[in-house]
Amino acid sequence: FTYTFDTPSFKGDVTVNTGLFIGGEWVDPVEGELIDVYNPATGEVITKVAGGSKADVDRAVEAAKQAFKTKWGLKTAGRDRGRALGRLADLIEKNADMFTALESLNTGKVFGNAKYVDIGGTIACLRYYAGWADKIHGKTIEANETKFAYTRHEPYGVVGQIIPWNFPLSMASWKIGPALATGNAVILKPSEITPLTALKLAEFITEVGFPPGSFNIVNGYGSTVGQAIAEHANIDKVAFTGSTLTGRKILKAAAETNLKDVTLELGGKSPTIIFDDANIEQAVKWATNGIFFNMGQVCSAGSRIFVQEAVYDQVLAAFTATAKALAEKAGDPFSPATQHGPQVSKVQFDRVLGYVESGKEQGARLVVGGERLGDKGYFVHPTIFADVSHEMKIVKEEIFGPVGVIIKFKTEEEAIELANNTVYGLAAHIFTENSSRAIRVAHAVEAGSISVNCANAIENGVPFGGYKQSGIGRELGEYAIDTYTQVKAVQINI
Ligand code: NAD
Repeated sequence: FTYTFDTPSFKGDVTVNTGLFIGGEWVDPVEGELIDVYNPATGEVITKVAGGSKADVDRAVEAAKQAFKTKWGLKTAGRDRGRALGRLADLIEKNADMFTALESLNTGKVFGNAKYVDIGGTIACLRYYAGWADKIHGKTIEANETKFAYTRHEPYGVVGQIIPWNFPLSMASWKIGPALATGNAVILKPSEITPLTALKLAEFITEVGFPPGSFNIVNGYGSTVGQAIAEHANIDKVAFTGSTLTGRKILKAAAETNLKDVTLELGGKSPTIIFDDANIEQAVKWATNGIFFNMGQVCSAGSRIFVQEAVYDQVLAAFTATAKALAEKAGDPFSPATQHGPQVSKVQFDRVLGYVESGKEQGARLVVGGERLGDKGYFVHPTIFADVSHEMKIVKEEIFGPVGVIIKFKTEEEAIELANNTVYGLAAHIFTENSSRAIRVAHAVEAGSISVNCANAIENGVPFGGYKQSGIGRELGEYAIDTYTQVKAVQINI
């Protein structure tokens, strides 16, 4: 389909192939259904894309297996795998505005943010893993005098990757970057809500040097295509980012079929802890961004905000002012004046407002927000609740929207205890000018990704992932290279 953009940020026609990308070709599904793709800023349908089925996953697995055995995997030198990834990053960079426009259209992300975070992040991530492709080494081990032993880090083979809608292209890059750098053949299933940028990316795949079948896209619903990937006996590994509920289903499917390796990046209810010795102005700037950025649709969002009593009133007032200011700048994602876009879908919009209602019903004090903005699209006023208790749903459950709860604490020990009072453990954001306290609290909090005097910190070289029910395994950095390779040990009698 072709979409004509006539916006302040981007003008031009963009064509996207809406089929499945299997074996280096665009194909129609064997069976399946067309899926509506929406513009959440207006609620209108943009286009329909092909949704596949189990039979299409079978086809993609066959193509991936063939590619892995004959042309890809370790048959392509690391140098050449890296070169292809680097060229892919170059082409995205060359077309950055076009990719940003597609992402903003489909998700409602503010154009400037999407260009820097989503598209810029994708380019940087692919380049980072391009650099790794020829630096994957095993070890030699001096077992004893008559034996020579060494290890090889070999790709798994066929890898299924299932991603969510909150950072569509960037999540794809976190997955395909290390998987392709290490020589795995990939079957990517984007979220059915946001398939457009991944489809556009596929157009460049063959041109940059990935052999047919080394990268495939099977769009479709989670319950059909996603489940078929998780269950497939000839998929050697599955990597998933999404909700804890779906993560459980994937782990179960893998356990009951071929015991494939599983990496899970799941949900969170991450604490932000603001001590009274923090630089409050900076802390508020980061922490409000930590909950409201991307309309709260960030897995590591600091949604439980713990504030030490001496600065509680000041911080609450600052959060309220920021929430109001953001609401005033809500609107067309393509307008340079906009700072706050819509939730990604009607389902998410209803879900977020449902949590607001439950907060009110359970007796929390709604300080600001809690309502729809405008009368079209899925905009929600940035929202803060105070005077909450720990049994409330808005304190315990991941909302995945611009809704934060602010909670007063007295001591460091109390802050740590409250922060850890959750089944999740993805991230934590800590604000203090006392470096000993920062390190103490960072070590005491049960979470995989800690930001000190900043929020939602992401670096390609630094591992990202969760403790407790926020996941299994790590993405990014060297850790992801380990995640996409298995170690073979060879012992030779001499
Ligand atoms: P989701 O779990 O509903 O869907 C994620 C993906 O899984 C989609 O592609 C979906 O089609 C697919 N899926 C759904 N059911 C499936 C099944 N039975 N088998 C296989 N695949 C299935 O999550 P979502 O609503 O798209 O995303 C929001 C969630 O993702 C939030 O909980 C958020 O915290 C989490 N998330 C986590 C991270 C992280 O890195 N930890 C990053 C982004 C989002």
